[in-house]
Amino acid sequence: MAVRETAQSPSTDEADLPIPNFIGGEWMRSSTSDTLPVHDPGTGQLLGQVPLSTCDDVHAAVAAAKEAFPAWRATPAVDRVQVLFRLKALLDEHRDDLARELSREHGKNVAETSGEIRRGIENVEHACGIPTLMMGETLEDVARGVDCETVRQPLGVFAGITPYNFPVMIPMWFWPYAVATGNTFVLKPSEQDPLTHQRIVELAVEAGLPSGVLNVVHGDATAADAILEHPDVSGVSFVGSSAVARLVYAKAGQTGKRVQALGGAKNHMVVLPDADLDLATDAAISSVFGSAGQRCLANSVLVGVGEAYDQVKVQLLEGADSLRVGYGLDEGTFMGPVISRRHRDRVIDLIDQGEREGADVALDGREFQVDGYPEGHWVGPTVLEGVEPGMSVGQEEVFGPVLGLTRAESVEDAIVLMHEVAYGNATSIFTRSGRAAREFRYHAGISMIGVNIGVAAPMACFPFGGSRASFYGDLKAQGKDAIEFFTDKRVVISRW
Ligand code: NAD
Repeated sequence: MAVRETAQSPSTDEADLPIPNFIGGEWMRSSTSDTLPVHDPGTGQLLGQVPLSTCDDVHAAVAAAKEAFPAWRATPAVDRVQVLFRLKALLDEHRDDLARELSREHGKNVAETSGEIRRGIENVEHACGIPTLMMGETLEDVARGVDCETVRQPLGVFAGITPYNFPVMIPMWFWPYAVATGNTFVLKPSEQDPLTHQRIVELAVEAGLPSGVLNVVHGDATAADAILEHPDVSGVSFVGSSAVARLVYAKAGQTGKRVQALGGAKNHMVVLPDADLDLATDAAISSVFGSAGQRCLANSVLVGVGEAYDQVKVQLLEGADSLRVGYGLDEGTFMGPVISRRHRDRVIDLIDQGEREGADVALDGREFQVDGYPEGHWVGPTVLEGVEPGMSVGQEEVFGPVLGLTRAESVEDAIVLMHEVAYGNATSIFTRSGRAAREFRYHAGISMIGVNIGVAAPMACFPFGGSRASFYGDLKAQGKDAIEFFTDKRVVISRW
């Protein structure tokens, strides 16, 4: 049932009504009455209800995307990107409001949400270069009088299934490139914080994106499964936990789709004795505790090499203990709540388990509360000493403000330790030695590497994605990989 003719999603005054899907250019109620609440994780206030959309809803969205494809594909690339140029201007104009809204539904502070929106905009900017990025190649005279060229063509309907931790930026790792290359798109955002991205869709419509080119279906694994099983979906971009990434990779393979599935992380930051230890400590604090640790690039284990260990430990404990934890929209807040009560309980369980397995809780955030916010999902900064890869807290992704400390005798030992963990998303080294940094880069076997950088986040013109249990597929998000993923290279051999 279509509820609105105009392209506007409901305001938060309508928080007890299910938020609409966006299908074929109209905001539509889902065919189900099953919903999940979206709460402000700092205050517990109800912000909205997410429909757990059905297969029928997904089928309607894919049908709309399929119908829109021929005309959108035939729109010249230089005209398609005009929509993205206008969207970029609108996103810049509304960035502050979007950042506040995102802070309310996610919990991180406004500087962080503003940064997230900036990173999303960066992808729109990069996708504006499609007329150049999408060019093919030509070679004259591959044989006498015969020429050969490649032409990049869109494939039809692509879909995205995305996580809660960057609910604005991560969808924008995908759909701006998909539509810029002439495909159409169905997005299933995280069911935990899907509200701000609704505003982004409104802005895309205001920018002139034609009906059916971008569609949004809210829901959980049922809607995601319907996407994965749909024969008219040519490819799927997934970001989330590794267990689900692996499942999505297998299912998409079974139904013959292109797939890029970015999974979880357990990142190590290695600090050598010759490092600038103040720089390393500051970088560790912002990497570990920024976004309350809910970042796939967060360094969650710090490996202090040799005598670096003791000094960094002292500085880190002091710094972590003095962080201002509070409501994301309050001035001066460094770290907000985690996304939900369930997630808070999981983080605390992992700290408990780490303690039982022999780690020493040097800073304990388990009982943390924030005055005035009794319903917030708080976990205070936590530091565990003596974390080993054999412990659950050394092996599993915690995705909370929890730092494990461990010692190594050399950079080689640190790499051995990192390789005992299944993930391979990101890592950082802090050193003044170019040689040590080069050795580290050469042997780390990890996809995103920071050298004297705590959060190794590639900009939109570079690929984003991990290795090993952190990534299933071959083409990553962003960069040139995005163009490869969303187009097929067709080869034409001509004799006249
Ligand atoms: P999640 O795996 O619980 O959910 C991600 C998405 O998958 C959601 O849209 C969800 O509805 C859907 N989903 C859940 N179960 C599914 C199933 N069985 N089949 C198909 N889809 C299903 O992840 P989350 O808790 O929302 O996000 C946090 C995770 O995402 C962390 O592990 C984090 O490291 C990871 N992440 C990775 C990157 C990266 O670049 N590698 C970036 C951000 C987040």
